[in-house]
Amino acid sequence: MAAFYSTKGEMDHINFAKDALYFFDLIAGQQDFTFDATTDWTNLNDNYLANYDVIIWLNDFPHSNEQRAAFERFMARGGAWYGCHVSAFNLPDSEWKWFNEFLGGAFFHSNNWPPLPAKVIVEDRNHPVTKRLPASYISPTGEWYQWKPSPRENKDVKVLLSLAPENYPLGVKSFISGGDTPVVWTNTKYKMLYMNMGHSNKIFSNEDQNNMITDATLWLGGAVRKDVKKR
Ligand code: ZN
Repeated sequence: MAAFYSTKGEMDHINFAKDALYFFDLIAGQQDFTFDATTDWTNLNDNYLANYDVIIWLNDFPHSNEQRAAFERFMARGGAWYGCHVSAFNLPDSEWKWFNEFLGGAFFHSNNWPPLPAKVIVEDRNHPVTKRLPASYISPTGEWYQWKPSPRENKDVKVLLSLAPENYPLGVKSFISGGDTPVVWTNTKYKMLYMNMGHSNKIFSNEDQNNMITDATLWLGGAVRKDVKKR
């Protein structure tokens, strides 16, 4: 797996990426896969991507049409994508139409501020990504995005986690007032998973959620989890 990230931008996004690098490095050792990371988005090209089955965008997205096209080719030849938080940010006037279809048609609509923990509901606990999760849990402090249209409206999208209605209104300065807020989903036409978590240095503080992130990584890579002995 290769992580693409940026060290510029919002502090909470950079902190998440730093924590994610530590986390993925750790589970790569435990689960026996390679993990590399780059801040150089020009590595989003055919040569570099040929080395990896899974790429993850921690806190940024492609910066040029060449990078976008290389990513489309990577997905077309069976690559897998794990997108976190701001990496899926797109608006109706965004140029990259393919990416919006890839996400299931979801455009960013609203968010909460300040970042807050939120109760999330696990909608399907039989999926490989969610099989170790409880029926619901409190996900650590984050900035939550609501999407319009909801990706749930796309018949190819499988929503795995969403915000529980009792969170609403979620936020103070800006808030998500109600409605459907999927936070983890896959567009089943692709080997992809989007996870809204990725805003704060608390994301990896919940063991259940960490299990989901591990299982998501292995599912995308087509691998089976090895038991890790605790000490
Ligand atoms: Zn954010």
